[in-house]
Amino acid sequence: MAFDIDMIKKVYDTMPARVDKARELVGRPLTLSEKILYAHLWEGMPSQKFERSKDYVDFAPDRVAMQDATAQMALLQFMQAGKSTTAVPSTVHCDHLILAKVGAEKDLAVANTQSKEVFDFLSSVSNKYGIGFWKPGSGIIHQILLENYAFPGGMMIGTDSHTVNAGGLGMLAIGVGGADAVDVMAGMAWELKFPKLIGVKLTGKLNGWTAPKDVILKVADILTVKGGTGAIVEYFGEGAKSMSATGKGTICNMGAEIGATTSTFGYDDSMRRYLNATGRADVVDAADKVADYLTADPEVYANPEQYFDQLIEINLSELEPHINGPFTPDRGTPVSKMKEEAAKNDWPIKVEWGLIGSCTNSSYEDMSRAVSIVNQAVELGITPKAEFGINPGSEQIRYTIERDGIIAAFEKMGTKVFTNACGPCIGQWDREGADKGEKNTIVHSFNRNFSKRADGNPNTHAFVTSPEMVAALAISGRLDFNPITDKLLNDNGEEVMFKPPFGDELPTKGFDVEDPGFQAPAANGSSVQVIVSPDSSRLQLLEPFQPWDGQNITGAKLLIKAFGKCTTDHISMAGPWLRFRGHLDNISNNMLIGAENAFNNKTNSVKNQLTGEYQEVPAVQRQYKAAGIPSIVVGDHNYGEGSSREHAAMEPRHLGVKAVLVKSFARIHETNLKKQGMLGLTFANESDYDKIQEDDTINFLDLTEFAPGRQLTLEFVHKDGSKDIIMANHTYNDSQIEWFKAGSALNLIAAGK
Ligand code: SF4
Repeated sequence: MAFDIDMIKKVYDTMPARVDKARELVGRPLTLSEKILYAHLWEGMPSQKFERSKDYVDFAPDRVAMQDATAQMALLQFMQAGKSTTAVPSTVHCDHLILAKVGAEKDLAVANTQSKEVFDFLSSVSNKYGIGFWKPGSGIIHQILLENYAFPGGMMIGTDSHTVNAGGLGMLAIGVGGADAVDVMAGMAWELKFPKLIGVKLTGKLNGWTAPKDVILKVADILTVKGGTGAIVEYFGEGAKSMSATGKGTICNMGAEIGATTSTFGYDDSMRRYLNATGRADVVDAADKVADYLTADPEVYANPEQYFDQLIEINLSELEPHINGPFTPDRGTPVSKMKEEAAKNDWPIKVEWGLIGSCTNSSYEDMSRAVSIVNQAVELGITPKAEFGINPGSEQIRYTIERDGIIAAFEKMGTKVFTNACGPCIGQWDREGADKGEKNTIVHSFNRNFSKRADGNPNTHAFVTSPEMVAALAISGRLDFNPITDKLLNDNGEEVMFKPPFGDELPTKGFDVEDPGFQAPAANGSSVQVIVSPDSSRLQLLEPFQPWDGQNITGAKLLIKAFGKCTTDHISMAGPWLRFRGHLDNISNNMLIGAENAFNNKTNSVKNQLTGEYQEVPAVQRQYKAAGIPSIVVGDHNYGEGSSREHAAMEPRHLGVKAVLVKSFARIHETNLKKQGMLGLTFANESDYDKIQEDDTINFLDLTEFAPGRQLTLEFVHKDGSKDIIMANHTYNDSQIEWFKAGSALNLIAAGK
C-alpha cells in the first residue's frame, strides 16, 4: 500500500530546474498546470515552448491506476510487452463489478462468486507484475488514490474518467483508455494535446448549507457538459484555500462532467492537513521544500485574465446550494428556485431515494456533515420519507465512520450501507421495482445522472447535490424542500426546522482501518502464474498479432462501407458487451454492429461476398477470416470518435480486417489502430468514398514501399471488372511503420526494440 516516497522525491528533485527552464522558454510567469506539465515532459528538461490546443506533447506520468472493468484488457495487453514489472508504480482497484442490493456483506459475497474469475485474474496478474491490488470491498479507485497515492505536483493517468478526482491534492490526474495505460506501464511515452487553461477564481468562504459540491455544480451550470473540453481547470483564490482537500477532490472529480482534461488546485494547508492525517508526513516535508513550484507564480493569480484562456469567478459567500438534473449534471437549479423549476417542468416532487457516497462525495467531512442532518431529524422526531443508501468510498472511511458512530446514526434511519464500491453510481443497483419503469425522483451525491445510469429505469429523475442536501431532501421526502427557509412537520405534527449542517473536516481521533483490503505484489513475480481459465467466457489470454508478411495486401473484400457517424460505440458497443471486455474473441462478436451500412442503410447487415447473402458484420468477417481472405473497412468523417476504447481497434485486428480507409479519423482511434498493427488510411480525395461499391475486391499496389508521407495506392476492382485507383493518405511516422511491420506496438516492445 505504501506510496512511493522515493518516486515523489525524484519528481520534486527535478521539478525546479525544469519549471525554471520552461518559464524562460515561455517567457512569462507560469500557471500551476503549466508547471506540472513541463515538469513531466518525456524528454526531461524542456527544450521548447508548446502551444495550447495545438501541439501534441509526450509526457511521462508518475503513476497508473486502473479499475476492474478497464484493467482487464489493459493488463492482458501489458502481459504481451514482455516486461517483468510495470515501468511506473501502478494499482488495480476492484470496485465496478459489485452489485448493490441488500447491503455490503451479502452483496460482496455475491460479487466475489459471480466475478471470481475476473478478480482472480486481476489479483494474480498484479502480483506477478509488481502492481498494487485493491480487493473487492477495499473501496472506490479515486477515494483510495486520494487517500494513498495522490501528491501535489504529480501526474497520474487512470483508466477511468474520474481519475481527475486526485486534483484535490494538487495533481494533474487524467482519465485515459487502456491502450494509454499499457504504453506507460510498458515504459513508453504518453501523448496529450497541450491543453488550454480555464481559471476559476474562488472568493469569499463557504457557509451554512453550501458545500464544495455546489462549486462544481455551479461551474457545470456555467460551462455545460462540453465547456471544459481540451482544458485543464485551475482553481485558485482565498476561497480555494479555505476548502478541505477532500472538498477540492469533489470539485475536481466532477470536472469530468464538463469534459475537462483535468482540474487542479495549488498546494496549501488543507493538503498538508490531509496528507498528515492519511499518514504521509514525509510527502508534506518533501512538498514543502518545493512549495513555490506547486502553485502558480504570484503574477498569474494577481492578473489571471492574462494567463488563462477563460476565467470564471465565483463568490463562495453568495453561492447557494445547487441541485443539478435531471438527466444531465449541467442543468443547475439553486435550491431557492427548485419549487418553481420542478413545477414548471413537471418533475416528480416526491423523493424516493437518497444516496450518499461514491468517489465524488464520501470523505469524512461529507459523512459527518450529512449525519449532522440525520441526527437532527432524530432529535426533532422526524421519520424520513425516502429510503437512504450509502456507499462509502473506502474501507478506511467506512471503518472510521463506524468507529465514530456515524454509520450507527445512519442505520437508525433505516439506511442501507452498501459495499465500499461504485454500486448505484454505475448502474450496479438492483433497485426493487425499477423494472416497472415508473416516473420517480431520486437524489444523490454522485457525479453523473444520465438516464438509466443508477437503476436502469429511463424514467428515474436523478438529481445531483451535496451529501448534506441529499440528507435533507430525503428526510423531507420532497425535491422542492429548501432547508434554508422551509419548515417540516415532525411525527407529532409540530413545525420544525433544520439548523445548517456541521461536521469535522478530518476525524479528531484520526483515520483507522483494520484490513484496508490491499494486496502487495510479490517482490519477485517471475514464478507467479496468471490465473485465466481456458474455458472462461469473460477472460482470454491474448496471442500476439502476426507481423506483416512484407507483401502487398491483395484480394481483400470490402467488409462494410460505413455511412455517417461511426463512433467507438458503433464499432464496439458497450452495455451488455462490457461483460466480455477481458475476452477479445467474445467481445469481437459486437464488431461494427452499430455501424450503418451505406448500401442498405441498415445496421449489422452486410453482404457476404462469398455467398451473396446479407448477414451480421462479425459473422461475415469470421467467414472471411476462416477462408484466409483479408478485408477492409471504409468509413465516413471522424471515424472512431467517442472514447479511447482500445477494443474498437483490437476487434477488427483480431478478426482479420487489414485496413480502415475513411474520410477522416478521430485522432485517438487512429493511434489505437496504429498501435494494434492495423492500417489506418484516409482518402486523398474524399469523393472517392462514393466510388466504392458493395462487391469490391481491393488490392494494395505499393504497400511494399510504405514510408512516412508517401501515399498508398489502392485498386478497387468492381463486380463488372472495372477498376478505380484510389490514393490514400496516412500519418504513420517511422516508428509507427515499425509497429505495423512487427504486427503491433507491443510486439515491438516485446522484441526489445
Ligand atoms: Fe465511476 Fe461512480 Fe465508481 Fe466513481 S463511484 S469510479 S463515478 S462508477
